[in-house]
Amino acid sequence: MPTPFTHLKQRINEFEKKYARPTHSVQLLAVGKNQPIEKLLSLYHEGQRAFGENYLQEALQKIPLLPSDIIWHFIGPIQSNKTRKIAEHFSWVHSVASFKIAKRLSDQRPSHLPPLNICIEVNVDQEETKSGVNITDVANLVSQCSTLPNIHVRGLMTIPAATDDFIKQCLTFKKLAEISHNIPTLDTLSMGMSNDLEAAIKEGATIVRVGRALFSGAS
Ligand SMILES: *Cc1c(COP(=O)(O)O)cnc(C)c1O
Repeated sequence: MPTPFTHLKQRINEFEKKYARPTHSVQLLAVGKNQPIEKLLSLYHEGQRAFGENYLQEALQKIPLLPSDIIWHFIGPIQSNKTRKIAEHFSWVHSVASFKIAKRLSDQRPSHLPPLNICIEVNVDQEETKSGVNITDVANLVSQCSTLPNIHVRGLMTIPAATDDFIKQCLTFKKLAEISHNIPTLDTLSMGMSNDLEAAIKEGATIVRVGRALFSGAS
């Protein structure tokens, strides 16, 4: 019986092959929100090193209790009063949606740490309830953030409108990929979750952020 982790890794591999993506070009980010330490630790023992968290308080409790070679990614909404701790404890932030937040993260990044990797969150499907910048503002925000000394703008992230329609999933991800291809400094596309993994890999995801498929065993 494969574990949910090995099953998921196999699926990612299959989709890489199916869509002519290079082997290992899609990185798995394990999203551990609301999951206890023990579950994260057992994934760690299966070989997983990149973990994502949405809620700062929850993450700050978990981080010191887990191995120090874990790469932590912050993927949740960011209020200004959270930026200092995020800049201190994470290697990546996927949910940057304003210059103000990017500048605070850069200003507050401790000098002994390498630049913080960030993705700009894009509201591709233009949902009123979602955070993220509009498609038309992406290039401008990327170039503004690129001037910040302690930030490395790596790419774009999106959380699409929920749908089980594969074609619709692909359309959203394709839009994000096109914007990214027009900005040659970017090397990361953070897109795809349990439900739309295949579409995301087809359209060029380099990081898929997966929670439920890893922790509940569903695929
Ligand atoms: C929860 C969450 C995920 C993982 O979603 P699943 O459907 O559990 O795979 C990915 N990205 C973000 C931003 C999330 O909040």
